[in-house]
Amino acid sequence: MSKKLLYEGKAKIIYETENPDELLVYYKDDATAGNGAKKGTIVDKGIMNNKITTFFFDLLAKKGIEHHYLKVLSDREVLVRKLEIIPLEVVVRNIAAGSLAARLGLKEGTPMKCPIVELYYKNDDLNDPMINHYHIKAMEMASEAEIKTVEEAALRVNEILVDYLKTKDITLVDFKLEYGRDGNGKIILADEISPDNCRFWDSNTNEKLDKDRFRRDMGNVEDAYKEILKRLTGEVR
Ligand code: ADP
Ligand code: UDP
Repeated sequence: MSKKLLYEGKAKIIYETENPDELLVYYKDDATAGNGAKKGTIVDKGIMNNKITTFFFDLLAKKGIEHHYLKVLSDREVLVRKLEIIPLEVVVRNIAAGSLAARLGLKEGTPMKCPIVELYYKNDDLNDPMINHYHIKAMEMASEAEIKTVEEAALRVNEILVDYLKTKDITLVDFKLEYGRDGNGKIILADEISPDNCRFWDSNTNEKLDKDRFRRDMGNVEDAYKEILKRLTGEVR
């Protein structure tokens, strides 16, 4: 398949394909934290995140949720629908951790009475600042109807994932999603769902099984990704 580099991000490389409606995504092992301030490699992360994302997207599709994955091409490569990405990081939180715990002075691990949705402007130069509906409409990133669609869709994803992950003894603390518009303006789930953009804690021990192990220099980073892959798919790496 002929491919032309479109964009290299922090974790993935995006290529155009012969089909203008499709992109090829290549998952790298590169890991960054603090908006690129900390850089490193997590061995085979790209392979594991592609497999984990495929697993979650298949699960969500069975529950009627449309996503951008079309066809896994190799361990690290997937063909996706080309979308016009809405420049928002849609974060859903069930338990206080990370920036929420810091900003509101909550002890990490405090359960929230209901899920929280937060919206961040996806802009590395600005360090992804948190924004609200007014900013999004004023800057013409999305309409009120689109924002509502995205928030409701993200909460639905949360319900499905929380319920499923419980059966695997994994607590879904929080996660980040991205959405895009297809050619008809329909909002579709994009990007990835993996330990890079979710906080997964072992339900029995609260051991962190996600990128926080890299962000916080906790060690056993690869093992955390392997453990998530194993609990979801049974695959032992
Ligand atoms: P970042 O851009 O934050 O460094 P990545 O390295 O993960 O992140 O790069 C992937 C890029 O591809 C992101 O900018 C993401 O918004 C974009 N993207 C994800 N899915 C699609 C899609 N279906 N169509 C177009 N762009 C996409
Ligand atoms: N997240 C992400 N990309 C970002 C920022 C956050 O995927 O650029 C995810 C992160 O993995 C976590 C959730 O969004 O699951 C909430 O992250 P938080 O705001 O606590 O940010 P952090 O302090 O981790 O940077």
